[in-house]
Amino acid sequence: MALKITDTCINCDVCEPVCPNDAIYEGELIYEIDPKLCTECVGHFDKPQCQVVCPVECIPWDDDYQETQEELMAKSKRLQEERDAQDKEHDKEQDEDDD
Ligand code: SF4
Ligand code: SF4
Repeated sequence: MALKITDTCINCDVCEPVCPNDAIYEGELIYEIDPKLCTECVGHFDKPQCQVVCPVECIPWDDDYQETQEELMAKSKRLQEERDAQDKEHDKEQDEDDD
């Protein structure tokens, strides 16, 4: 299950940098979570880090996105692989620029 940010968010910006999956972004009015990228922090931390740091406790579970622990772990692994591939591509581009 992903998490979601409710409209009591005060835009304090402390949750965005703690997300291991870059799932949190500044929306039009408040911060938002991309459910495709949120793993409940499974694969990284014991507890959802955004919930831990939010000063106004405005990040509940999102019932619309039900996922099992196994699904979340697989999602976390896939996201990590995608990030690794992107990093590799970036390094390759840097090497080509340096030549
Ligand atoms: S629960 Fe974890 S992965 Fe999901 S948005 Fe919060 S910090 Fe990011
Ligand atoms: S930590 Fe909470 S209040 Fe601050 S931006 Fe994130 S969701 Fe909003």
